Amino acid sequence: MRTLERVNAKVRDDTPLWLFADQLGTHVHGGEHAHRDVLLIEATSALRRRRYHRQKLHLVLSALRHAERDLGDRATLLRAGNYSEALKDFGRPVLVHEPTSFAAERFVEKLHADGLVADILPTPTFALSRNDFRAWAGDRERFVMEDFYRDQRRRFDVLMEGSSPVGGRWNLDADNREPPPKKQRTLEAPKPYRPRENDIDDQVRRDLDAMDIETVGVDGPRLFAVTPDEAKRALTRFVEQRLPLFGQYEDAIMGDDWAMAHSLLSVPLNLGVLDPLDAVHAAEDACRSGSVPLAAAEGFIRQVLGWREYMWHLYWHFGPRYTQKNELTAHTALPKWWRELDADAVDAQCLQHALAGVRDRGWTHHIQRLMILGSHGLQRGYRPDELTEWFATAFVDGFRWVMPTNVVGMSQHADGGKLATKPYTSGGAYINRMSDHCPDCRFDPKKRVGDDACPFTAGYWAFVHRHRDLLAGNRRTARAVSTMDRLSDLDALLEQEADRDRF
Ligand SMILES: Cc1cc2nc3c(=O)[nH]c(=O)nc-3n(C[C@H](O)[C@H](O)[C@H](O)COP(=O)(O)OP(=O)(O)OC[C@H]3O[C@@H](n4cnc5c(N)ncnc54)[C@H](O)[C@@H]3O)c2cc1C
Ligand code: SF4
Repeated sequence: MRTLERVNAKVRDDTPLWLFADQLGTHVHGGEHAHRDVLLIEATSALRRRRYHRQKLHLVLSALRHAERDLGDRATLLRAGNYSEALKDFGRPVLVHEPTSFAAERFVEKLHADGLVADILPTPTFALSRNDFRAWAGDRERFVMEDFYRDQRRRFDVLMEGSSPVGGRWNLDADNREPPPKKQRTLEAPKPYRPRENDIDDQVRRDLDAMDIETVGVDGPRLFAVTPDEAKRALTRFVEQRLPLFGQYEDAIMGDDWAMAHSLLSVPLNLGVLDPLDAVHAAEDACRSGSVPLAAAEGFIRQVLGWREYMWHLYWHFGPRYTQKNELTAHTALPKWWRELDADAVDAQCLQHALAGVRDRGWTHHIQRLMILGSHGLQRGYRPDELTEWFATAFVDGFRWVMPTNVVGMSQHADGGKLATKPYTSGGAYINRMSDHCPDCRFDPKKRVGDDACPFTAGYWAFVHRHRDLLAGNRRTARAVSTMDRLSDLDALLEQEADRDRF
């Protein structure tokens, strides 16, 4: 990482630091920058650029305004039509950390050329620097998360005993990922940390009402940490009380338990108010002190040090055109009920609950994103570029960098398998095993054809049929094709799914 010694010699030590809304942590503006003035900008153009979830706009504004309050005399918060206007008004060139998207990077480079930005520093909101990732990637064509993750563990010396992983295994997935407990409506995990709203949140709510911005989803209480202090409390509460259940039920879905044992830390991590290595070390310390099982700590560390970093770096590595990839030639426009988050228009219980979670909180947990919402989009051939935009705007933790690899790569397999070795989708049997939704549903997960045919079961076979050549050529999916070939009611199923307009 470039440090201040190497920053352009013309940049004075008192040059102020401009922070984007996803760079608000003490690891960004503290340390060697602790003496600097800080510029924060609320740009209306950024709020109006897309149709965001109402609660996402709230979180971003609340984070910026809390940062202004917490930084006291160091901070200037400017409200302006756009960033360039604000920088001109501010009147002094600023330092800025590399922003987190291609578009913002181009913009900041132009500001640098125009003299409004004095220098651009590396982003400190991820553990591994972009240069180190480039060196790691070399000329690889295919990427395997497990290789990356093991190198991250070694590099940052996390859960290691010398050169070996603690406990002798790198991956404890086999001990995790259980179905939901039977005879319970919720996981009965201690409740997640919930920030206390204050006068700043009240004002944000009033301002958003007055701005008359077009949004999706409903307003609701602030559920996620937006300051370094809140993030610390959220992390401590998670590690002490909820992490023990995290790994075990990481892939389970319960209708009456929206948070399960997930950390709810993606918002503070993506706002840059929580240092990812602090989250990783907290989980490791809890494990080493014996208060958290190794499988739970490893499962969480894999998410933060593995998946999150991997998705960030591959965003840059795959380049700006990756979002346009559509190797499965999926051309169905997103239906209106989906775009409007109209969960009441949906009968399928698993899909209804996931969509209601997006509408009510702008958040669902990972397995709902991947195996319900993403899987539905994949089966129905929704356009990956529209889905990418949808996830980026409808989710409170949806920032530009995080979407393409998660949606185009992981969830829609639209990159032809650069990121994931097989498409992630399933029939109702998997959802029935991993959730408690099916008994309450008007569809039957075992039925492929008929009025009560499960849209995921039938959709799965229709998907396998549509992509039979691709799937037959992949040893991880070839069996699905041979099973499909033996289905006696395949023609009826395909006709039924071609006409299905309600889920
Ligand atoms: C289709 C799809 C869309 C997604 N959209 C987003 C998004 O907009 N923003 C986002 O931060 N994550 C996204 N994810 C990843 C993951 O689902 C969320 O990070 C997670 O559900 C957030 O909840 P949590 O903080 O309780 O996470 P936990 O389940 O507690 O996991 C801990 C942390 O691991 C990190 N993480 C785990 N997996 C990923 C991943 N694949 N990509 C990035 N970070 C990961 C997150 O920072 C998360 O906070 C998406 C995944 C899929 C399949
Ligand atoms: S029956 Fe099918 S649609 Fe209904 S909840 Fe189960 S998997 Fe979802």
